[in-house]
Amino acid sequence: MADRSAVVIGGGITGTLTGCALLRAGWKVTLIEAQHIGAGSSSRTAAGIRQQFSTRESVLGMRYSVDFYKRWHQTMGQEGQPIEQNGYLFLVQGQQAWDAALKRVQDQQAWGLSEVQALTPDQTLERFPYVDPDEITGATWCPSDGFLRPDVVYNEGAATFRALGGTLLQGSPLIQAERVGGRLTSITTGKGAVLNADVFLDCTNAWSRRVGDILGAAHLPVQALKRYLWFIERGESMSPAELLKMPLIISPQGAYCRPENAGSLMTGWKHAAPDVSADFEYEDQDTVEPAYFHKNDADSRPFETWMALAQALPPVGEFAGISATTAGFYGTTPDHNPFLDFDPNTENLIRMVGFSGHGAMFGPFSAQVGAALAEAGGSIDHVSVLGEEAELAPFKIGRDFGAAEAMVI
Ligand SMILES: Cc1cc2nc3c(=O)[nH]c(=O)nc-3n(C[C@H](O)[C@H](O)[C@H](O)COP(=O)(O)OP(=O)(O)OC[C@H]3O[C@@H](n4cnc5c(N)ncnc54)[C@H](O)[C@@H]3O)c2cc1C
Repeated sequence: MADRSAVVIGGGITGTLTGCALLRAGWKVTLIEAQHIGAGSSSRTAAGIRQQFSTRESVLGMRYSVDFYKRWHQTMGQEGQPIEQNGYLFLVQGQQAWDAALKRVQDQQAWGLSEVQALTPDQTLERFPYVDPDEITGATWCPSDGFLRPDVVYNEGAATFRALGGTLLQGSPLIQAERVGGRLTSITTGKGAVLNADVFLDCTNAWSRRVGDILGAAHLPVQALKRYLWFIERGESMSPAELLKMPLIISPQGAYCRPENAGSLMTGWKHAAPDVSADFEYEDQDTVEPAYFHKNDADSRPFETWMALAQALPPVGEFAGISATTAGFYGTTPDHNPFLDFDPNTENLIRMVGFSGHGAMFGPFSAQVGAALAEAGGSIDHVSVLGEEAELAPFKIGRDFGAAEAMVI
């Protein structure tokens, strides 16, 4: 079966895990990466992983991803531990938001996420003594959620890719493509390699617009939006052990935090950002606009984020100070679901882009869908995960964007 060949474009979490899934299915695979493994959003991510979503497919898909990351030794044959299951705690304020949260918990339980719970303010305080119960109407809690060590995922993912016989070309951007009619025949890298394949997979997320243009593919609505993370030093108001045990917490306003290590809290909060998908450079990933830099004044977004978190989590307000800002791009779609489908203009091109802030957690599920699409040779309606059928309608190109994912941070 090794006569079937694939070229994966983009060496982040999506590309490396998809490359491995294809190799396991018997494909001959070459992965090309413009810079180096993990150079894109995969190394700039908060890397939260949760199953608390608002659609059945994402709940099921993320149940599969959690299971895959938990069983990394079996699924990838590697020694690292890519997942910390500290849980995810959504704090909710206001009756309308609370009614919606209760409905989501019911749906999530019906979709197989049995461990998700709704907590009253007192129950929340009992488990998480740093939460101010007067600031919330309730909380939703899933103990098997948590966060990833993304470097373990893409570095060990690349090691498995090589061990399975994949060819990895780093420093090798796609620069040109040859087509015959509606089919891609070969692509050329910046190092001059000309690669033929039966199937090509676009795993370039925030870069997909320009990569799509080079490939002659359909224009997909994937915006490249800047997102920041800020790191707050712990101080004395919380012990190292308490910080390390903290779940990923989302404040009622949408600011979020999780432990980075025993001395530092990672925080983030989305903001209105322009779409730069047409023309950003690789180094623009690290550019920090003044309003988002932690060394600027108290009106800046990092301080707003800190204060929003401190309102719900008073000990965080006593932390020592913000020590660092990092940045990267989301590749965002209108309904916040990714595209996992064949390109409508190109019969042998699969697009796996537009993860809208949840591509690290989607990695194993995306890889499963990517390999199933390649095997099928055309668009498919469902994929089997954990013995259940995940409908792929929410991830199709050309879908109606009306049914948006509600749980976006
Ligand atoms: C601040 C921030 C917080 C986030 N928080 C979370 C979170 O909590 N949970 C979560 O799941 N996700 C989160 N994300 C999103 C997540 O990081 C991404 O969805 C995920 O990393 C996407 O992985 P990817 O492999 O699809 O894309 P990327 O990691 O971006 O990889 C794409 C690769 O394509 C390469 N490339 C580009 N052009 C070319 C070309 N011409 N030829 C070859 N290669 C090319 C790039 O160099 C890059 O390495 C966050 C992102 C940011 C920025």
